[in-house]
Amino acid sequence: MPYRIVLAPGDGIGPEVTAAAQRVIAATGIEIEWSERQIGAGAFETLGSPLPAETLEAIRAADATLKGPTATASGGGYRSVNVELRQKLQLYANYRPARSMPGIVSRYDNVDLIVVRENTEGLYSGLEHTVVPGVVESLRVITQVASERIARFAFDTARRQGRGRVTCVHKANILKLSDGLFLDTCRQVSEEFKDIAFDDCIVDAAAMKLVLDPKNFDVLVMENLFGDILSDLASGLVGGLGVTPSANIGAHGSVFEAVHGTAPDIAGKGLANPTAIILSGVLMLRYLGEKQAADRIEEAVRGVIGAAETVTGDLGGSAGTDEYTDAVIAAMTNN
Ligand code: NAD
Repeated sequence: MPYRIVLAPGDGIGPEVTAAAQRVIAATGIEIEWSERQIGAGAFETLGSPLPAETLEAIRAADATLKGPTATASGGGYRSVNVELRQKLQLYANYRPARSMPGIVSRYDNVDLIVVRENTEGLYSGLEHTVVPGVVESLRVITQVASERIARFAFDTARRQGRGRVTCVHKANILKLSDGLFLDTCRQVSEEFKDIAFDDCIVDAAAMKLVLDPKNFDVLVMENLFGDILSDLASGLVGGLGVTPSANIGAHGSVFEAVHGTAPDIAGKGLANPTAIILSGVLMLRYLGEKQAADRIEEAVRGVIGAAETVTGDLGGSAGTDEYTDAVIAAMTNN
C-alpha cells in the first residue's frame, strides 16, 4: 500500500520548493499517493480560510503531511496557520535537529544537537486580552499533561537515536510555578529513562553556552517560546534557516516543514533553495520507517552542498532550484 501523504505547498516559494522535494522523494522509488491541499494566504483568497476544514481533515487522515511556508501578517489579520495547525491537531512536539553541513561555513564544525520544543501551549496559547485600554495580558500556560508528553518525546527520541543526554531548558528560578512544574515533570520522566543522562539549564545560560560551545548539548527540551528562539539559534550555528528541517508530531497527524518563510523577494523566480524542505522530507521518511531512503537523500544533499558546484544563490552558488534538485537526484542514483 502506498503511503498517503498530503502536500500543502503554501505561499511564496512554497510551491517551488515542495515540488522539488516531491521529485527527490519520488526518486527513492517509495510509493506515495500524494494529495494536494491548499493552505495559507492563497487558501484565504480562494476558499475564505487560511486553514480550510478540508485541508485540516486531509492532514488528520493522512500518514503524514509535507507543508511549504505560509504567509502570516504581524499584528492584525488572521491567526498564524502554523500555530492553529499545531493546536487543532495537537502537534505537540516540534523536532528540530541542527547538524553541521559540509561546505557551509559556520562558526563551528561537527554540531549535532536536537531541540525539542513544546508546540501547543506556553505563551502561544493565544490567550490574550485587553485589561483596560493600553494594558494587554498574554497568558503563559504550562500544564503537567503537556510537559509530560513533551518530556517523554524527548527521552524516546534520545533513546531511539542512541543519544546520551537530555537537558531541560527553563526559567524555574524566576517562574517558580510554571517552569517549576515543567522542570519537575521532566525530572520525573527522566526516572523512567535511566540509560539517558538528565540535567537542566536556565534558558539565558543555555543561550550563552550554545553560542560558546554547542558541544555542551545533545538533546534539549523546552517550552514553546524558549524553543522557538533557541531552535533558530541552533539553526544559526549550522548555517541558517535555508538548510534546517523540522517536524511537528502529534496524536492526530504529523507535519514536516522547512523553518524558513515564504521568501517573497525571490518567489516565482526559480531561485529558492529547496534543501530545508527536502531534509524535512527526510525526517518524514524516517518517521514512516523508510530509513534507507531517508539516508540516501540526506547523503546526496550533503554531497552536493559539500561539493559546492551546484548550489543556490543563498549558499554562494548560481544554480536554480531545478538545477540543484537535479544534482541531488543524480547524486542519489550514484549512491
Ligand atoms: P523568509 O524566511 O521568508 O525570508 C528571509 C530571507 O531569507 C529572504 O531574503 C529570503 O529570500 C531568504 N530565504 C528564505 N528561504 C529561502 C530559501 N529556501 N532559499 C533561498 N533564500 C531563502 O522570512 P520573512 O521575510 O521574515 O517572512 C516572509 C513571510 O514568511 C512572512 O509572511 C512570514 O510570516 C512567513 N513565515 C512563514 C513560516 C512558515 O510557514 N513556517 C516561517 C517563517 C516565516
